[in-house]
Amino acid sequence: MPEEIKVGNITVKRGELKKGVIKGVELINNVSIDIPVIVMNGVEDGPTLLLMSTQHGIEIQGIEVIHRVMLKEVKPSKLKGAIIGIPVGNPLAYMHHQYLSWIDNLDVGRVRADRPNGNTTERLAYALWSEAWSKADLIVNIHCNTRPDSLIYQWINIGNPKTREKIIRMAKAAGVTTIVSEEPVGEDAPPTLGNLAARNGIPVLLFELIDGRWISEPSTTVGVRAILNIMKEFKMIEGEIEPQTGITIIPGTNRFYGILRANKGGLIRFFKKPGEFIRKGEKVAEIYNLYGEVIEEVKMPVDGYTWAYPCGQTLGTSGSLQAVQTGANIAYVFTHEKDELP
Ligand SMILES: [Zn+2]
Repeated sequence: MPEEIKVGNITVKRGELKKGVIKGVELINNVSIDIPVIVMNGVEDGPTLLLMSTQHGIEIQGIEVIHRVMLKEVKPSKLKGAIIGIPVGNPLAYMHHQYLSWIDNLDVGRVRADRPNGNTTERLAYALWSEAWSKADLIVNIHCNTRPDSLIYQWINIGNPKTREKIIRMAKAAGVTTIVSEEPVGEDAPPTLGNLAARNGIPVLLFELIDGRWISEPSTTVGVRAILNIMKEFKMIEGEIEPQTGITIIPGTNRFYGILRANKGGLIRFFKKPGEFIRKGEKVAEIYNLYGEVIEEVKMPVDGYTWAYPCGQTLGTSGSLQAVQTGANIAYVFTHEKDELP
């Protein structure tokens, strides 16, 4: 951590907390859509932790988590290192309560982040990379599923030797259900925010809260506890790591199995909760038509769990309505591998 840290239009000296903006993009009426940022520089050396929420414009729980951590829980006088807080990673999505940028329907986390002269959402991604992501040592990217979700989880990619050890430490400290994948970022992988981070040895914890369109419990408490635990693990603040309580946790190593999709169109009702063990062949949900007749029974493909029901997609947005069309996502399915993390 340097003596002072510059992010967007602010320069933050040791012991200071400042609020500013990262320059974003200009609309046709000359209005600039910038990225608000909060930066806290601690009094002693330590890692720089980036907290970003709302890469997807309707997933707002992380905003509250960042506010609580940076404005209530942690004081610059007690901090070793620095925290960069970005409450809304994609303001073009958030401003029209859409999942993706309303201008080009692109995802700021999936486009190239290395192009200052790229398309509109690529320029936002470049601004995030150059002003914030590239300056971090640890990143927590906070997302949310939507109702009827009930399982808070995190996703870690342990396929990159440069970040493997740190990402496992972050996940253990955060203490929620963990989905583990091993996807090395190859030479030909597109330079998205996540891939650039991996190449630069910066671990990114993808954290998924629940009930994403409302600020509510248990997401706030669990999210704040997870961030503070990570900060304790990396000696940014004092204190013992607090186990997560009050939520369902499938401990250890879990693997993503696949997406259950609808073969019929209609309304859908669910019989299982995310985080509830489901045997292969058990009925997870059923789809019914506008005459009230059941037209498809949706069965579990494997012994395992679901983490969310992302049905009702429109314009790339999941979870907008309790209804599906043919081919729509019904459930994300995962299996439990062992009771310990790798
Ligand atoms: Zn998301």
